[in-house]
Amino acid sequence: MSRVKIIAGNWKLNGNKALVDEFNHTFNQTTFEHVSVMIFPPALYVNEFNCEHLTIGVQNVSEQTSGAFTGELSVDMLNDMGITHTLIGHSERRDIYNETNELIAAKVAQAIAVNITPVLCIGESLETRNAGNVYQFIQSQLDSVIEVVGITGLAKCVIAYEPIWAIGTGVTASPEQAQEVHRFIRDYLGSIDEVVAESLSILYGGSVNAKTASELFVQPDIDGGLVGGASLKKEEFLTICHAANQRG
Ligand code: PEP
Repeated sequence: MSRVKIIAGNWKLNGNKALVDEFNHTFNQTTFEHVSVMIFPPALYVNEFNCEHLTIGVQNVSEQTSGAFTGELSVDMLNDMGITHTLIGHSERRDIYNETNELIAAKVAQAIAVNITPVLCIGESLETRNAGNVYQFIQSQLDSVIEVVGITGLAKCVIAYEPIWAIGTGVTASPEQAQEVHRFIRDYLGSIDEVVAESLSILYGGSVNAKTASELFVQPDIDGGLVGGASLKKEEFLTICHAANQRG
């Protein structure tokens, strides 16, 4: 089955109007036949993008609908402004802002209820990997979402497998290490619903760069990448998009 290939750039707390303009300029002149390209800039900049070849999303969304929640954005606001995608559960949200599996599941439920697509981030720490608990850990992150939205709800997400030890460290998981976990995710979901498992796009994230992209994207269960640092460098990000497009 051919799944949607995605390259998504997570700008985190980086970027500015000049970088948005650079991306608008470059991507207005570039199309990718086999890859959907997404950017998750800081929320303030989402409406500064004016390129129809880019899908723009936000990096986080509230589990609340409205009210006294200073600093939050609701899924209805995203809809109102034509935003179709949001990251949910990035490891920086989990670790720095103490977001739990339960909170993340509630955010996913909010998003899919109004047809916003969550890019659900999961992934283990080095400690968990060294203890030999990768699969157990990943399964529990998936289960906590499935418990709330069911497998049909999870089917509306994109999954991003991002081992924490590879995020922002310059240490990319080897293609074999990444493929092994992607295969596990697909097999586990397949034990619940084969059709969903085969159709879900599972992205790899963690120090993807122009050098490592091709060998990652050739893996059968890797459907693209969630890219942090390298998504701030227009040329390198383009190279990564081309690498995924070739695997189309
Ligand atoms: C990320 O923040 O999702 C990420 C993968 O970052 P980096 O590519 O910089 O490791």
